[in-house]
Amino acid sequence: MADAHAAGQTILVVGGGISGLTTAVEAAETGYNVLLVEKDPQLGGRVAQHNKYFPKLCSPVCGLEINFQRIKNNPRIRYLTLSEVEEIQGSEGNYTVRIRKNPRFVTEACTGCGDCAAVCTTEVADPFNFGLNKVKAIRNNHAMAFPSWYYMDPAYAKTDEAKQVAKICPAGAIQPDMEASVIEEQVAAVVWATGWKPYDAEKILPYGFGQYANVTTNMRFERLASVYGPTGGKIIRPSDGKEAKSVAFIQCAGSRDHNYLPFCSRVCCLASMKQATYVRDQYPDSKVTVFYIDLRAMDRYESFLQKTREDANISWIKSKPARIEEDANGNPVVIGENTLTGERYAMPFDLVVLATGMEPHSAVDAKVPSDQASHDEYGFVTGGVLAAGCAAAPTDVASSVQSATAMAMKAIHAAVKRG
Ligand code: SF4
Ligand code: SF4
Repeated sequence: MADAHAAGQTILVVGGGISGLTTAVEAAETGYNVLLVEKDPQLGGRVAQHNKYFPKLCSPVCGLEINFQRIKNNPRIRYLTLSEVEEIQGSEGNYTVRIRKNPRFVTEACTGCGDCAAVCTTEVADPFNFGLNKVKAIRNNHAMAFPSWYYMDPAYAKTDEAKQVAKICPAGAIQPDMEASVIEEQVAAVVWATGWKPYDAEKILPYGFGQYANVTTNMRFERLASVYGPTGGKIIRPSDGKEAKSVAFIQCAGSRDHNYLPFCSRVCCLASMKQATYVRDQYPDSKVTVFYIDLRAMDRYESFLQKTREDANISWIKSKPARIEEDANGNPVVIGENTLTGERYAMPFDLVVLATGMEPHSAVDAKVPSDQASHDEYGFVTGGVLAAGCAAAPTDVASSVQSATAMAMKAIHAAVKRG
């Protein structure tokens, strides 16, 4: 039945993270054509930046790879990377979409041999690793990234060296003169899966992020613990490379606070519990301290929280630290008052991790049409358009997948109604 309705119907999915991937494969496997548009060079979104993710605590490489295979093997799915929706006109069942394709400067002929990166002499801060390391100006994010074709930074493409590097590519895949283009597509339904970005920790001035090298954030910590990350998975502190065996996690860093993000992001308590196990597993003699206001673990994850609470080397201090200072040895010193005992503390650590929250992309830089969508006061989409995963609310991977599947069904329904 689906195929009868599906003929000629295309569903546009904006965002290639776990939600967008899920919506795309669910809709395509039901018989609909899907156009998946991603603004970054490779698919996978925030999940691809994690070291491990719930519920199985496995590497995202395996979980995402299943989706990537489903995309590769399904001729109904087209995907565009480095692309953004510029404009949408029309209504449910009949939209005209303008999409800007930014240049990758490398074509699909790329075999991923790496010869270009080997001779490239220009290095840039690695956005995939939040600038924790430098990478070549022509690269892919990591060996398992999808699509595997390399990409080139636009500024580098303008250099004479880029032209020379293009000559050594055995596949003839490098095109430094590649230009942006705009395409127009007709689609029956649109699902916004535009995801989230980490709250900017530099705004939380008392915690000194950006000022003290050994104060980091939860997403940066994921990259630090990843074998594909800047240290090959070794948890060390950025200032001097010392093994980080004494680590503090500050919960609700900038969250549930009307000065910053007023809401609870729901996932950052569990993220810190998970990250505490990274430290404890890597260094058996390590000590972790968690500063918290409340500890929130949804559903079945309560048992995971309990397990971490049974580890004698993880301490729990009910307190919202007042500030962080740095001692003469580069140790961040967490200062505050224990809410339960009333004791004041000033505790030095090798590394402090700020459990920052989630901000929706859709509020600020995704082009969700404002005349159609309604948002809550924080920028999450509440109605008017189909929104999956963290475009609609802060949520974990499992709930994002459920939400994305539901949105695939709603998009199909919209296409069937008007088909
Ligand atoms: Fe190899 Fe060319 Fe791809 Fe670079 S662009 S990895 S040289 S095939
Ligand atoms: Fe705070 Fe935990 Fe909610 Fe995150 S999930 S905002 S750390 S209570």
